[in-house]
Amino acid sequence: MKKKIAIIGSGIAGLTLGNLLKKNPQISFKIYEREDGHIINEGYGIQLSVNCISILRDLDFDLIDKKKMYHPQKLNFFSISNDKICDLDLTKFNTNNNKYTTLRRSVLVEFLREKLFKENLKFNKDIKKISELKDKILINFSDNTNDLVDYLFVCDGIFSNTKKIIEKDSPSPKFSKAFAIRSIVKSSDVAEIDNHNISLFMGSKSHVVTYPINQKGELNVVCIIRSNQKSIIEPRNFLEKNIFNQSKKLKNLFENKLEVWPIYVNENLFKSHNKKIFYLGDSLHALLPSMAQGAAQSIEGAYELYSLLSKNIKNFEEIYYNKRFKKIKSINKRSKINYLIFHFSNNFFKKIRNFVLRKIVKNEKFLKSYLGKIYN
Ligand SMILES: Cc1cc2nc3c(=O)[nH]c(=O)nc-3n(C[C@H](O)[C@H](O)[C@H](O)COP(=O)(O)OP(=O)(O)OC[C@H]3O[C@@H](n4cnc5c(N)ncnc54)[C@H](O)[C@@H]3O)c2cc1C
Repeated sequence: MKKKIAIIGSGIAGLTLGNLLKKNPQISFKIYEREDGHIINEGYGIQLSVNCISILRDLDFDLIDKKKMYHPQKLNFFSISNDKICDLDLTKFNTNNNKYTTLRRSVLVEFLREKLFKENLKFNKDIKKISELKDKILINFSDNTNDLVDYLFVCDGIFSNTKKIIEKDSPSPKFSKAFAIRSIVKSSDVAEIDNHNISLFMGSKSHVVTYPINQKGELNVVCIIRSNQKSIIEPRNFLEKNIFNQSKKLKNLFENKLEVWPIYVNENLFKSHNKKIFYLGDSLHALLPSMAQGAAQSIEGAYELYSLLSKNIKNFEEIYYNKRFKKIKSINKRSKINYLIFHFSNNFFKKIRNFVLRKIVKNEKFLKSYLGKIYN
């Protein structure tokens, strides 16, 4: 008999999982999304490292119009005043077909959505109750419909409402006392910025990252600023006090519409007491953005879950969570190190950091262990 599955949330995690499950005729599934699905928030850029590109290529990722993506070759390190420190060759982690890729999140979401059948993706579905019925899961929705499934895969993002409904003791995401300010600029408006590669500008308690997201000359801009403030009402004033006071050279990057996101993380990885319920993507692990692995890990996790399910292993939750937690912990460790060294304020520490950076971007052994392990 076919296994019946419900996926909650149609972000990158839920949609990747749906597309993978579609390949298995022994599985029937539905994705339940709370939003109405008419408009895909255009959003900003995402970075996809090679670890997830091979998975996406199995889902025909190569069919996406090449003009809608970019393959940066280098990560440039700069001081906040735009003095180049060194660069890291990203192509050493590429293979012939799998290349480090940047694009708009909406391009990927649209592509993954279009590949699903209409009956697989249900919008406007708000969960009221989730209960166990024999060895199955019963989902009751606010519109008085329900679904009885063998497995429930929860992919509804960092503030996972589904997790709150199911688990009494799940830890809440923690505010990391930092904000992301995002924008998109035309590369012709910021001629001083490398429009082919990723650039990281390191300042005191802050960093700015730019990268191309398509062949139209659009650059994604994201600025991370640590702050004890509870919210940001005037992003331009906030930038003035935290970035432009250090250097005015990056001011051009922030002339367009700005969006502010408080950064939350899931410090404690949590698994369900119910062996038929799985958390995936940001609902399992919201990471600091300093390794750019949020989307890649959602894709990787979806693939691991799909593989275990297809192998018909009983009680595979132990294997899934052990592997996921191990990977996420090692990314978390690296994210925290990056976060710390990107944000040095002390000039002496900055000098040492820059000296060490120049050395390690050329050290194959170090790179294999620090980045290679994550990108594999
Ligand atoms: C609108 C949006 C825009 C984003 N833009 C960017 C970006 O530009 N750059 C970037 O790096 N990252 C962006 N992210 C975050 C990034 O996509 C995620 O960190 C990462 O890909 C993890 O994906 P996810 O599928 O686990 O979670 P998410 O991408 O957060 O997706 C969760 C999905 O679940 C749905 N949902 C939430 N609650 C419920 C519920 N109770 N029932 C049913 N459905 C529910 C949400 O509407 C959403 O579609 C964005 C996220 C969102 C939601």
